[in-house]
Amino acid sequence: MSLIKNFFMIVVALFFIASDIASVEALTYDEINPQVEGYVASLPTAKKDYKSRQRPILIQGAMTAEVGNLIKALKNPVVYWNMHYLFVAGTYKNYPVVVSRTGIGMENAAASTALAIKQFNPIAVINQGTAGGYAPNLHVNDIIIGNNSINCSMYKEEYQAAGEYDITKQILRGTPAYDKDKKEDTEFRRFHEFKADEKLLRIAKTTAALNPNWNVSFGTIGSANGWNNSIDHINFLRDNYGVDAEEMETNAVAQICQNAELPFIGIRIISDNTPLGEQFDLATALPCQDFSLLVAERLIRNIKAGKF
Ligand code: SAH
Repeated sequence: MSLIKNFFMIVVALFFIASDIASVEALTYDEINPQVEGYVASLPTAKKDYKSRQRPILIQGAMTAEVGNLIKALKNPVVYWNMHYLFVAGTYKNYPVVVSRTGIGMENAAASTALAIKQFNPIAVINQGTAGGYAPNLHVNDIIIGNNSINCSMYKEEYQAAGEYDITKQILRGTPAYDKDKKEDTEFRRFHEFKADEKLLRIAKTTAALNPNWNVSFGTIGSANGWNNSIDHINFLRDNYGVDAEEMETNAVAQICQNAELPFIGIRIISDNTPLGEQFDLATALPCQDFSLLVAERLIRNIKAGKF
């Protein structure tokens, strides 16, 4: 009898463990945000301008769910508000780090990056968060690091008469930005892509190689203020411009970093994949921060060794 009872109890315990795992996958904004907001509200607010002997690393995420783990990883965190953008400055692995919640979209990402550059004088910028996969090998929870990023909303269309609309008549024009190789030009030149900083890319590659439990690939991130859900639009961007994953911030931050002549890298986790029918999963925002912290830790080691 006791054998049957024990067996029954084990089955019940396994059920609760399994349902707990399932609830992790189904995390919602309401489950994550209040807890992060509460933690931020408990932190001291800066009374003076930011001062640091070493230039901090700036790590960004668009949404609360994309920065909560980063903020909690900081030692001695202090909150800075600037034009209602949130920045939390502290240390990680004994090195200054500023975590920034940029808000969703290209404009918010660009504005908060410019403010952070002026306020904190970062040595490097890491933008991270969720993204929609286009490529069939990119599943929810895989990580894609941008070798480069392109702006999918900076386009001009070929003329088409009424009733003839065809997405493939869109020609991406590139993003206007400062060109350090053409200092004589005072006007920004269009860049079809912004490449990730080579040293940061090498650090990310080493981090990926040393952590084989993460499924990491390197490719092209496409940014726009939109969420594509039509296979035609996705195939157009994938086939003609080599976009592997889409989101709403990377190219805007890369643009501002190029104007400020600062090293930049974009790290994204696949939260959804329309061609594969994989739906948006907010819980992916959490492990993306963990991987980004591994990259930051390696970067810190390089900075301390004078190699960055
Ligand atoms: N609230 C939305 C998801 C977030 S909005 C929902 O529940 O459906 C978009 C944010 O997620 C942006 O910051 C963007 O960078 C990122 N993102 C994730 N997947 C995306 C996709 N397929 N297309 C565009 N942005 C995506």
